[in-house]
Parts: sequence; C-alpha cells; structure tokens
Amino acid sequence: MTVVVLLGAPGAGKGTQAEILRKRLNIPHVATGDLFRAAVGEGSAIGLEARRYMEHGQLVPDEITIRMVLERLSRPDAAGGAILDGFPRTAAQARALDEALAGQGARVEHALLIDVPTEDLVARLSGRWICRASGHVYHAIANPPAVPGVCDLDGSELHQRDDDRAETIRARMEGQLGALADVVEHYRAQGLLRSVDGCYSISVVAEALLVQLGQAAEREA
Ligand code: ADP
Ligand code: ADP
Repeated sequence: MTVVVLLGAPGAGKGTQAEILRKRLNIPHVATGDLFRAAVGEGSAIGLEARRYMEHGQLVPDEITIRMVLERLSRPDAAGGAILDGFPRTAAQARALDEALAGQGARVEHALLIDVPTEDLVARLSGRWICRASGHVYHAIANPPAVPGVCDLDGSELHQRDDDRAETIRARMEGQLGALADVVEHYRAQGLLRSVDGCYSISVVAEALLVQLGQAAEREA
C-alpha cells in the first residue's frame, strides 16, 4: 500500500501535481476539497455542513473530514494506496490517518511539501480556473487552456471557485497556514517530510517530486 501525502498551502499546486503523480504511480488521487465540493453539489448532509465553513475559508471540523476520508480510502480502488491532496490539514487529522493505517498494518510512506511563498499563492488562486465536469485545473497565465474558457480534456466550461475571491483567499491564508505548519511538523518528526521548491514550472516541480519519491524508494530497498 502506497500512501503519499501532498502538503502545501492553498494554491501551492497540490491538485495539479497529484494528477501527474496519479498517472505515474497508478493509485487514485483523493482530494478532500473535491470530495466536499461534490457533497455540496449533491446537497448531502456533509455538503450542507461543509459549505458553512468553506464559504468563509475555514477548515471543516476534523470529525466530519476524517470520517469522509476514511470512508473514501476504504473503497476498493484505494486498496493499493492513494495520493492524498488537502488531507491531513490539522495535526488531529494526521494522527487519525496514522491510526487508521496502522490498523491495516500500513503507514504514510511519503509526505511531500510543495513549498511556495505566501505572496505567490494569491496570484495562483486568483488566476485559477477549473472545469465544471471534473475539476481539471488551469491557470490564466501559467497553464491556460488551448481555447479560452473550455477544458482541454473534456470540453466542459471553465469557472472560478467561489472561495478563490480575494477576501476568501485572505481568510484561507490566515486560517489555514498555522495548521499546515503543525502537519509539516508531524511528518518532520517522523522523518518522512521531503520538501520541493514549488516556484518552478509545473513540469519541473513534478520531476522534483518524482525524484523525491524515487530516492525514498531506493533508501527503503
Ligand atoms: P485548495 O486547493 O485551495 O487548497 P481545497 O480544494 O483543498 O483548497 O479545499 C477547499 C476547502 O475545503 C478548504 O478551504 C476547506 O474549507 C475545506 N477542506 C478541504 N480539505 C480539508 C481538510 N482536510 N480539513 C478541513 N477542511 C478541508
Ligand atoms: P492546490 O491544489 O494546492 O490549491 P492547484 O493545483 O489548484 O493548487 O494550483 C493552484 C493554481 O496554480 C492553479 O491555477 C494551477 O494551474 C496553478 N499552478 C499549479 N502549479 C503551478 C506552478 N508550478 N507554476 C505556476 N502555476 C501553477
């Protein structure tokens, strides 16, 4: 079982890189933000609860988040592991994940931090466009679609997320970066943390992440 945790501030490039790693490692990409947005879209009880926090840029409470992720990880396609994007986001979530994996004789194998200075994150989030059909991610300048407003991969319309508005971006930075530091520390203490400079292009960052995964695999061999 290969469990890879991708860490980074909002806008660091976790979702973008998780899609690249998913194809290379052949394990599913599990993004809590995507799971919550799907629940909001369905109007389920989790969605209604989560939306109250998401629209203010706050973290959804641990109990709901942990339950949702563990349910997702129990599905058959995640039997060989998963790339976790946006989870864990608090130290309590990290501990809950450790305990759940230990119960299956497994553990987080790699914790990869995509490191991007806070001042660059605002430009990334305010230029982010995602597609309606599957949440494929673009950037107005750094990664534009071939045809403006249309997803290259499935032809659906591109839109900006409600929480990528300036005031919610600010709230997310203020409310979430402290907890990210706690999670980084959790994995540093376990000797699992690897950090990659996220300021380079998407493909250069992807290569750096794959190098970290390869080096870790060599050390274990
Ligand atoms: P980003 O890609 O900008 O980092 P996400 O799509 O991962 O944002 O998450 C969107 C929102 O969903 C977060 O601002 C938060 O409200 C909620 N969320 C996502 N993951 C978690 C989590 N692990 N714990 C609590 N809240 C979460
Ligand atoms: P996260 O999941 O961490 O919130 P995303 O993968 O959604 O981040 O990326 C945030 C925005 O930044 C998107 O518009 C994406 O296209 C863009 N982006 C991702 N990686 C890079 C990069 N290395 N350089 C420039 N822009 C990037």
